[in-house]
Amino acid sequence: MTEQAVSPGGTDPWSTPYWWQAAPRQRFDHAPLPDRADVVIVGAGFTGTSAALVLARAGRNVVLLDSGAPGQGASSRNGGQVGSGNQKFKVAALIAQRGEAKATALLREGTAMLGHIGDLITREGIACDYTICGRFRGCVRPEHYDAMARDMEDLRRVAGVTSYMVPKAEQRREIGSDYYHGGSVLPADASLHPGKYHGGLLDLARAAGASVHGFAAATAITRDGPGFVVTTARGRIATRNVIVATNGYTGDLVPHLRRRMVTVHSAIIASEPLAPGVIDRLMPKRRVYGCTARVFHYFRPSPDGTRILWGGRVGGARRGDAQGYRHLAAEMARVFPELAGAPIAGGWSGQIGYTFDDMPHLGVVDGIHYALGYCGTGVSRATWFGDKIAKKVLGDPDGASAFDDLIFPSHPFWFAARSAVPWVEAWYRLRDSL
Ligand SMILES: Cc1cc2nc3c(=O)[nH]c(=O)nc-3n(C[C@H](O)[C@H](O)[C@H](O)COP(=O)(O)OP(=O)(O)OC[C@H]3O[C@@H](n4cnc5c(N)ncnc54)[C@H](O)[C@@H]3O)c2cc1C
Repeated sequence: MTEQAVSPGGTDPWSTPYWWQAAPRQRFDHAPLPDRADVVIVGAGFTGTSAALVLARAGRNVVLLDSGAPGQGASSRNGGQVGSGNQKFKVAALIAQRGEAKATALLREGTAMLGHIGDLITREGIACDYTICGRFRGCVRPEHYDAMARDMEDLRRVAGVTSYMVPKAEQRREIGSDYYHGGSVLPADASLHPGKYHGGLLDLARAAGASVHGFAAATAITRDGPGFVVTTARGRIATRNVIVATNGYTGDLVPHLRRRMVTVHSAIIASEPLAPGVIDRLMPKRRVYGCTARVFHYFRPSPDGTRILWGGRVGGARRGDAQGYRHLAAEMARVFPELAGAPIAGGWSGQIGYTFDDMPHLGVVDGIHYALGYCGTGVSRATWFGDKIAKKVLGDPDGASAFDDLIFPSHPFWFAARSAVPWVEAWYRLRDSL
């Protein structure tokens, strides 16, 4: 069936992701919902879709649900920066917290996630502008440089990750800016077009037999003998297994998860096409870029190399309109002064799923499987966790993960965490600026 394209944010350039121009979201709301399944997956982003692909190929009758158009959450809104997730940790701190053996296993699994997504895209021929371009992370303070060098050395020793440091004096080889105090390069990191990647993954899952349904929010999951009944806005489905894959869009469906997830908004602006030569000057190696600030920014060229896509936090009232996104444009002009006043084509925001221990989690609660909590690095991790959680449902030993036995912590004031995010951000910004 040909699906009808949809832009849930309309055509408003201040809410519709740039990615949706080349990869419009499809509604998937025409077919009636089946009343029976082997596995119902709630949430059709990278996690849910990756899980659906594995399960459908294993012959399971899979129903993949989303409350909106499949993929309209973070999976088609992100920066398309592909990393291992290892840069989220300070290696020494991770070892102090969890011991050398566990830290090594977690970091090595991060490295495996990066390899996995590249292999998947290549093997399946997903046309998503995937490029191993490398990542440059700039130090926003001079003292960050030595700390970063130590951390990169630890990462090499513990997880075999290749990287190199770029001192400030040589930084212009990497970036047309003097804003940073040197930085590091992770050559194995990559970029992709998230809308095309999600669309490609969804096509594979559907071709394998997964039944995909948009605008079908799950409103309740109830026990029914050895299985469950999932109640949705469009009907009820009896199923043997359920996977919850709602990450930053996690609501009250499973209270255990609601108490462990904190939603944080992140936003991106896209410039109008820049004059020929500008991108070559500012981002000569066309990498993906980030920084060491607590409230960090991230950026990259568009896949066609004509625009800059600049992301970061736009807390509270500054979210969701042209006025709000000026803040990101100002941040961009601080790093690249020649972009001050550059016309911005539009912007959008999305929801990131944070956890109280900064770790992603997968497991089973009351018989319900879940995989979520990627803390802003989910392109490779969500694909991997989707694969792992599906294999757990299948009873495949390859579903084992170093993340299996982590305690998934809540917080006594979990209910206040979401509203506290802007205050925490303001405090972090103050510390960044001091
Ligand atoms: C602006 C932004 C920039 C980012 N940049 C990067 C980046 O450059 N690199 C990187 O690695 N990561 C990045 N991320 C994070 C990454 O996009 C996410 O970690 C990843 O997409 C999570 O995938 P997911 O499938 O778990 O969740 P999502 O893609 O968010 O999907 C969850 C889905 O669950 C659905 N849902 C929720 N409740 C229900 C319900 N009751 N019933 C049915 N459906 C439901 C939602 O509609 C949603 O579609 C970014 C995120 C944002 C928002």
